[in-house]
Amino acid sequence: MEKLKFIDAHSHLNFAAFDADREEVIERTLGAGVGCVNIGTQKVTSQKAVEIAERYDGMFAAVGMHPIHAGEHFHDTDEMSEEVEEAGVFDADFYENLAKKDKVVAVGECGLDYFHVKKEEDKIKQQDIFRQQIELSLRVKKPLVIHCRDAHEDLLHILQEYSGVAADMHFFGGAGSWENVEKYLGLGFYLSFTGVITFAKYSHYDDLRSLPLNRILIETDAPYAAPEPYRGKRNEPLYAIEVVKKIAELRNLSLEKVAEITTQNAINFFNLSL
Ligand SMILES: [Zn+2]
Repeated sequence: MEKLKFIDAHSHLNFAAFDADREEVIERTLGAGVGCVNIGTQKVTSQKAVEIAERYDGMFAAVGMHPIHAGEHFHDTDEMSEEVEEAGVFDADFYENLAKKDKVVAVGECGLDYFHVKKEEDKIKQQDIFRQQIELSLRVKKPLVIHCRDAHEDLLHILQEYSGVAADMHFFGGAGSWENVEKYLGLGFYLSFTGVITFAKYSHYDDLRSLPLNRILIETDAPYAAPEPYRGKRNEPLYAIEVVKKIAELRNLSLEKVAEITTQNAINFFNLSL
């Protein structure tokens, strides 16, 4: 394996969107010096993320249950080739056994997503499943990868119930996130940025310029959210380089420098042994 020059802190090479050419994608990713943390969203995709991580140096896994799977059935064809089997049930033993494995570097993605649910009982279920994953992360001493959409107030409330939580706020920048950025930084959290920052209409360049560089991670969220100039195509971890380029441009630094800083941040945050 080449030395890793970039780390995509959040990708889903474990998803069905990569079933047809997963090995090729992984080879060109690692060949370009891009390492990845593939993120589970439920049992099957968590298991798959672990299998990939155990097969390749430079690939790591996070295991957990996405809040959209906490409520009623949700089907995403990019994610799953088969039906989801376990909506609403968090199998703590299953996730704990996976979370203890060496190549598993985080718990998640987990959190709250009120964009996709409106019923109060579904929100409460998400909150309960999120708490269980915070507790799992504290037990196994691995950080959380948090997904939060339209729910920052409740998320911060829940986080206040705990101490010692380490987390990355994945896909940072949706509604309500910049308003709370000081709170997340105050908790010691990392923030990760996707290809969305390369879009012409992106409106938070000043915010991005003022963030502490030692808290920034780069991610693709592949297969979703491809950056310019690949917008609209299936995303892949290689395109994380476009996110680094954009940050370099905004911060007046070289691509190499931002790559070095964000890779070191990922190593620190996920406690990676390379
Ligand atoms: Zn994701």
